[in-house]
Amino acid sequence: MAKTPWVDKEECISCELCVTNCPDVFRMDEDNKAECFNPEGSSEDDIQASAIDACPVSCIHWKDE
Ligand code: SF4
Repeated sequence: MAKTPWVDKEECISCELCVTNCPDVFRMDEDNKAECFNPEGSSEDDIQASAIDACPVSCIHWKDE
C-alpha cells in the first residue's frame, strides 16, 4: 500500500522548506501553502527525512492510500 504525504494547510507557515528539499513532491499552492503534487517524486525515506521531519511545525503527515 503506497503512502502519500499530505500537508495540514491550517498549520503550514509557508516556510517553503519542504518545497526546497523535495521539489519533485511538494509545491506551494495559490494560497502560498504547501501541498503534495507528486507522492512518487522521491523515496519515502527522503520525504520522511527532508520534509516530514524537517517541517518546523510538523504539519506534513502520511496518509495511507
Ligand atoms: S516545511 Fe512545513 S511549514 Fe514549511 S512550507 Fe512545508 S509544510 Fe509548510
